[in-house]
Amino acid sequence: MSSSASTQQVPFNDLQRQYRAQQAQIEAAVQRVLRSGWYILGPELAAFEQEWAAYCGARHCVGVGNGTEALHLALRALDLPPGAEVITVANAGGYGAIAIRQAGLTPRFADVDEATHNLSPPALEAAITPRTRAILVVHLYGRPAPIEELLAVAERHGLPLIEDCAQAHGARVAGRMTGTFGRLGCFSFYPTKNLGALGDAGAIITDDDRLAAKLRRLRAYGWERKYYSLDPGGINSRLDEVQAAVLRAKLPQLERWNALRRERAAWYRRLLADVPGITLPDDLPGHVFHLFVIQVHGGQRDAVRQVLAARGIGSEVHYPMPTHLQPAFDELGYEAGELPVSERLAETVLSLPCFPELSYAEVETVCRALKEAIAALAA
Ligand SMILES: *Cc1c(COP(=O)(O)O)cnc(C)c1O
Repeated sequence: MSSSASTQQVPFNDLQRQYRAQQAQIEAAVQRVLRSGWYILGPELAAFEQEWAAYCGARHCVGVGNGTEALHLALRALDLPPGAEVITVANAGGYGAIAIRQAGLTPRFADVDEATHNLSPPALEAAITPRTRAILVVHLYGRPAPIEELLAVAERHGLPLIEDCAQAHGARVAGRMTGTFGRLGCFSFYPTKNLGALGDAGAIITDDDRLAAKLRRLRAYGWERKYYSLDPGGINSRLDEVQAAVLRAKLPQLERWNALRRERAAWYRRLLADVPGITLPDDLPGHVFHLFVIQVHGGQRDAVRQVLAARGIGSEVHYPMPTHLQPAFDELGYEAGELPVSERLAETVLSLPCFPELSYAEVETVCRALKEAIAALAA
């Protein structure tokens, strides 16, 4: 990776650029913690939890170790019976299914909408059975899912809904933040996310006082107070003081960074508007473009990727194999063909470089190479 990265014309992502632009603030934050002598469950986390809750418009925020554990603990907090079924999608990297299983529950998959890549309300409705006990919605690529309609379906069936906002920091629906619609909203602050720590970190937001208190126990051994275990299923999953301080230093930039991501997406949409054989993502208001994902049709996706790579342009596939067909989930008994849209998208999706520090010239370079690749492959 590192040898090709040095020859790369346009990297898929470049976290150094963001670090350099924020170096003084980030290093001051880290130094503050180093010198404080308090490294776990201290004032930085308490402050970040308040600031993140306020930013999202939620009553509570509970910091945890990473995004997958945010999902895991959110599910645990609902106290579902062992083995209960949770409906989620199969095109989002499998984190939700891992968390569902980690919580002692059973993932069931519903198909997604071809245009939005997100769970569609009719698909959700059709997937609900008497065994369904919860719904886990992903706002994939930073594009808000149709959460109001999905919530209406969930409520009609009396099911709690959890939102996976790991790719959707600051994404809004009708002015309201994703993560505040369901019972619980889960975030990852993995370094590449729209708000990223310098290591692993995650959080859960909720308006429910009881769930927030329970999550605070579950993330620290199930303790009600020091050395007194109350909740079964408690684990150790904490957002440490260094990461909390880094996130506090970066949070004031998040809205600006998201605006820059949207601007880069608009450049791509304009420069690629007339290219045949591809589908561009829509420009839904509130979309924060964690990823800019096009579809390449005609079975040419991997060939296009190779041409881009040969020209030093980074790209990725999110995600190449749907979760229901992964060997790790064999036990669920799914077969190819059961989720046709998710399976088709795994063959066509292609993520192009899209991050706040990407220049217009770089976007032009990507677009030129992509057009030439598609023209050459069609010839
Ligand atoms: C990154 C991500 C996660 C997992 O977050 P980690 O912090 O890496 O555990 C969960 N869901 C989605 C959609 C993600 O993109």
